[in-house]
Amino acid sequence: MQFIDLEAQYKHLQVRIDARVQAVLNHGQYIMGPEVRELEQQLADYVGVKHAITCANGTDALTLALMAMEIGEGDVVFVPSFTFFASAEAVAFVKANPVFVDSDATTFNMCAQDLERKIQAVQAEGRLNIKAIMAVDLFGLPASYPEIKCIADKYDLQIIEDAAQGFGGAIQTSEGTQRAGSFGCISTTSFFPAKPLGCYGDGGAVFTDNDEYAELIRSYRVHGKGRDKYDNVRIGMNSRLDTIQAAILLEKLAVFPDELIKRNNVASQYEALLSSKYITPQVPMDYISSWAQYTLRAENSVKRFDIMAKLEDCGVPTAIYYGTCMHQQAVFKTIGKCYGGCPISEKLAETVFSLPMHPYIDQDGYDAVISALLG
Ligand SMILES: *Cc1c(COP(=O)(O)O)cnc(C)c1O
Repeated sequence: MQFIDLEAQYKHLQVRIDARVQAVLNHGQYIMGPEVRELEQQLADYVGVKHAITCANGTDALTLALMAMEIGEGDVVFVPSFTFFASAEAVAFVKANPVFVDSDATTFNMCAQDLERKIQAVQAEGRLNIKAIMAVDLFGLPASYPEIKCIADKYDLQIIEDAAQGFGGAIQTSEGTQRAGSFGCISTTSFFPAKPLGCYGDGGAVFTDNDEYAELIRSYRVHGKGRDKYDNVRIGMNSRLDTIQAAILLEKLAVFPDELIKRNNVASQYEALLSSKYITPQVPMDYISSWAQYTLRAENSVKRFDIMAKLEDCGVPTAIYYGTCMHQQAVFKTIGKCYGGCPISEKLAETVFSLPMHPYIDQDGYDAVISALLG
């Protein structure tokens, strides 16, 4: 059994992906070829935003978002402590300071109450400019944007959505379904192979409805280009998505809605089989998860390793996302601030473990998981 079975997915899509890649090899426009534009249009349509701008990876996507917002030295960005390193790394990379926010014990996403506490703590100190909230759609579940938006409006902060794991997730509102990638003034995603929508290498994208941000990001992505790439009007980076990766993503995006249903079926199966004995992940009403991870909690760290060992014996791979909170990372000791700690994040880091999650889990797979966890 695979933790994320990219081979099964490729077998399913092989004919179509091979043909798309061959088409790129035939036309030879490896950089910013027609597939890149085609993909950007389809991504914008799917997410429901005006602009989708692809780039080299999800970390660059965050950096590009921060650069477009002119966030830098002396600025604070509020980031969840329980996330992948890149969220906070991008903030530090542009020389701003991440302030770490505790997790909600049920959703594992940024806790809105702690967010407000931390905003007030930074304000009271009066040394740094509060600029933005970077919310992360952890494990595929959109952060609690209705609450976060109220706080952002109250303190005049912008929202950046890190949807690296969240692509495909959504919140149902009175106006319809709002998809992940549309909750920030600027939102980002990653196409790292293991993400819900992955390519066969590195890739990422930035989403926005704001024309000025879109123009800036298109410029920063290609050496700060002005009229063309030899007219350089700002210091940028080299962060384009390869045409071959765009071609692969076009075929994967075509089956993505179907795969999203399958991922949700896997989660429902796990829930039905495991909820009597384990603390299973809960999706709040009106939320849709893209299930980047299916994550359980053990009672404590010793029991976690016992359970994981038992799963390994039954041939079921598991992983820990994440064993270290951001405020516990040595590199953030001086750049990052925590204002009173993140106790729930710490508890999660000690107890979480993730089960195999992908659209192609078969009955043998479920049987192995169940016999290890319930046997
Ligand atoms: C994967 C990930 C990123 C970074 O994406 P890359 O494409 O690997 O650079 C950023 N934030 C979160 C939450 C992620 O899971």
